[in-house]
Amino acid sequence: MARDPVLIFTEKGIYCPDGDFFIDPWRPVARALITHGHSDHARPGHGSYLATAAAAPVIRHRLGDVAMDTIAYGEPRRIGGVTVSFHPAGHVPGSAQIRVERAGEVWVVSGDYKVQDDGLSEPFAPVPCHSFISECTFGLPVFHWQSNAAVMGQINRWWAANAAEGRVSVLGAYALGKAQRILTGIDASIGPVLTHGAVEATNAVLRAQGIRLPATTQVTAGVDAASHPGALVLAPPSALGSVWAARFGPAAQAFASGWMALRGVRRRRGLAQGFVLSDHADWDGLNAAIRATGAERVFVTHGYTSVFRRWLETQGYEAGIVATEYEGEGLDAPEAEVIAPPAAEPTT
Ligand SMILES: [Zn+2]
Ligand SMILES: [Zn+2]
Repeated sequence: MARDPVLIFTEKGIYCPDGDFFIDPWRPVARALITHGHSDHARPGHGSYLATAAAAPVIRHRLGDVAMDTIAYGEPRRIGGVTVSFHPAGHVPGSAQIRVERAGEVWVVSGDYKVQDDGLSEPFAPVPCHSFISECTFGLPVFHWQSNAAVMGQINRWWAANAAEGRVSVLGAYALGKAQRILTGIDASIGPVLTHGAVEATNAVLRAQGIRLPATTQVTAGVDAASHPGALVLAPPSALGSVWAARFGPAAQAFASGWMALRGVRRRRGLAQGFVLSDHADWDGLNAAIRATGAERVFVTHGYTSVFRRWLETQGYEAGIVATEYEGEGLDAPEAEVIAPPAAEPTT
């Protein structure tokens, strides 16, 4: 006799009837299991939260004093008729894939993930399962990431060249994850590193939980190109070209995002320089991650869902699309900790 699915898709989010909980719900629910702290996944208003110990501080920082329980990676926990566990997703510090098992049948919700080691987040760990719910933000073959070290080398050379010309370098990077990944990868001997308040707030939370980051100085009144010549400034992407950035004079400006792989996006934004750096999996990463699960059934969520679903079917998978309210990666996406909806970027 066919059994009911372990997870079902509702207008509030991904729901587990046997455990009576939701995963990353976008409407208020009684019990929410949260993959990571970005605002499209960790939303306010739930009765209780369960997240990894490493993801919890950022979630508390964003949502305030919510009822939060924490769990270690790999620790099994019984909830109703299922057993859940959290496994590294490699997306940002503390990010998790959530495994749900009922009597030997395993479903995994990927959350946002990347298979590339970014030198900061706990490296992605494949989790064998029967059904895999995968994001596919960059699910087209044109998206191919270079190694973390290669991109950090590009950023260092750009920064050093600007500093040699006496210019400040303003680099747009999401305030949670990308900015700290860049901090971890750059050569801090090139010059001082300044931060926008949104980036520094996240730095403070991560440092307090024991994550080591190079020294940074928050931009306040009196901190500018004259006080910090040749500085690298890390700021949310929305700060690029803003009045806030004008204090640095004729600075070099660039954006670090997977979208920088599309030259048209960079041109439309009037950016002379872009670095192709994403905290989501590229085409090869998505395919490798899905293969590694051994799943026969794959549901795809935000991103190039229809193209990617068709591709998976040609590869022999049973594949479906799940409509969610996760927002992927955009210039002003939740990953920038900006509440406004993302700017229109290619998503189909
Ligand atoms: Zn995310
Ligand atoms: Zn997301």
